[in-house]
Amino acid sequence: MAILEINNLHAEVAEEGGEHILRGVDLEVASGEIHALMGPNGSGKSTTAKVIAGHPAYEVTDGEIVLQLEEEDVADVDADLEEEDYRWNLLELEPNERAALGIFLGFQYPAEIEGVTMTSFLRQALNAKREEREELFEDEDDEADADEDESGYDSSPMEGPTDEGEIGVAEFQQLLKGKMDLLDMDEKFMQRYLNAGFSGGEKKQNEVLQAALLEPAIAVLDEIDSGLDIDRLQDVSEGINALRDEQGTGILQITHYQRILEYVEPDHVHVMLDGQIAKSGGPELANELEDEGYDWVREEVYEAA
Ligand code: ADP
Ligand code: MG
Repeated sequence: MAILEINNLHAEVAEEGGEHILRGVDLEVASGEIHALMGPNGSGKSTTAKVIAGHPAYEVTDGEIVLQLEEEDVADVDADLEEEDYRWNLLELEPNERAALGIFLGFQYPAEIEGVTMTSFLRQALNAKREEREELFEDEDDEADADEDESGYDSSPMEGPTDEGEIGVAEFQQLLKGKMDLLDMDEKFMQRYLNAGFSGGEKKQNEVLQAALLEPAIAVLDEIDSGLDIDRLQDVSEGINALRDEQGTGILQITHYQRILEYVEPDHVHVMLDGQIAKSGGPELANELEDEGYDWVREEVYEAA
């Protein structure tokens, strides 16, 4: 089980006199759990997601983000691991390193890229993650060996270049087919260019597919429900549930509306106000917010202060 721990996180816009947006966020998401992060527009939800992922537009001024791993989270790693390989201070790492450790950020507005097929994009993403992961966990002795032998060959030149971690085209097709079955997706869509001309719903399904392939410990999904009609919302929701149920992914589901939570039932609901988690509760909290809005939470906070 992996745990993403966010403690007293403060962040501001990374520019001279940049706005102080996050004002002490505390949040803990473990793999296998579904957390909903709700709150009014401008409360700091997307900023939280982007700071977790390592977006350069924000500067963290206090607090920490730690990813705590267990044996099963590093079962794929072929190196001798030490204590420090199980606890990572994400704030010291680049976005791609955070991704390789198991943090996935689904975008609210996924990019469209002409000329790159879905299949090719996804295979490259998976290979990039594997390679980065190997580097992160590589033990120092191996690194020394690698420095000695820069030929790019493992032992004998007859064996060819050392990119053993790479997944080849055929193996990838198999893997992808399995994931698409899991998410009940139409295979035709794999030959198309990445998100080009995709409907809003298809782009969002695609984000879920990426998460299914990369098998993150924790997926942060920012307003994946926005702009979806009810059928697409159900498809996307089933995909998110499959990530949790079949792969044990922990989900941080950022949403403005209670609607998606009818299909992706959260274990925990958090309300963000003015850059802090103002209230946390069980799934019933989402219903209360639906009926009564956010003002009563704000009043509770003022009264307590
Ligand atoms: P939410 O996702 O909850 O609607 P955001 O995290 O997007 O809120 O934004 C929180 C506040 O921070 C808003 O007032 C927004 O305008 C501001 N903000 C976010 N990112 C930036 C940025 N890069 N530059 C300036 N202001 C920003
Ligand atoms: Mg937002």
